[in-house]
Amino acid sequence: MKKLLSVFAVVSIISSMAAFGADEKKKYAEGSCCAKAEAKGEKCKHPCCVEAEKAGKMCEKCNK
Ligand SMILES: [Zn+2]
Ligand SMILES: [Zn+2]
Repeated sequence: MKKLLSVFAVVSIISSMAAFGADEKKKYAEGSCCAKAEAKGEKCKHPCCVEAEKAGKMCEKCNK
């Protein structure tokens, strides 16, 4: 039983870290084209942003 509890503790730590990481990654600059597109449930269509998205990043030109 003790072992099960520690497994739970580890899982909750990992999932909270994962949630934090996802939060960090999705933070577009407020008012940027990408943030506006995301608010509508879409992806920004600017070529520079599409390129950045493909590389797994967010556009640095538009998200300062
Ligand atoms: Zn954009
Ligand atoms: Zn851009």
